[in-house]
Amino acid sequence: MNETDLAHLKRTVALAKEALEAGDEPFGSVLVDAEGNICMEDRNRVAGGDHTRHPEFEIARWAANNMTPEQRAGATVYTSGEHCPMCAAAHAWVGLGRIMYVSSSAQLTSWLSELKMTKSPVNPLPIEAVAPNVAVYGPVPALVEQVHALHRQFHQAD
Ligand SMILES: [Zn+2]
Repeated sequence: MNETDLAHLKRTVALAKEALEAGDEPFGSVLVDAEGNICMEDRNRVAGGDHTRHPEFEIARWAANNMTPEQRAGATVYTSGEHCPMCAAAHAWVGLGRIMYVSSSAQLTSWLSELKMTKSPVNPLPIEAVAPNVAVYGPVPALVEQVHALHRQFHQAD
């Protein structure tokens, strides 16, 4: 991981904060192509009731519609929280490249259990269990506490 990766990961945390400020769950993601250009970024948008509106899923569909297979394979998805199984599958199905995340699904699960939140309807499998050919890097300890704080704020504001 280099300084550029860290800058993109910081942007995902800022997007997660935007989601929180808009009343949504704090998750954010950025798609960067092989040349280092930011192609797309998004945040969680499940507050309207559609719980498939994860940023990683939106990125996968955007990439399928706007990038060649070669461009997708060379791209990186940066994300504040590790892909859920739905998003990991979408990422693999459209042939995107590596993933870098700040906090892991295991960390999120333990935070939500500390906050006494009800269990997710989807098992928190690691990306590698869903998409074995994707190169994955995370968690990133330098930023994890910022993401943890956003989740605490979201659930304690309920
Ligand atoms: Zn997801």
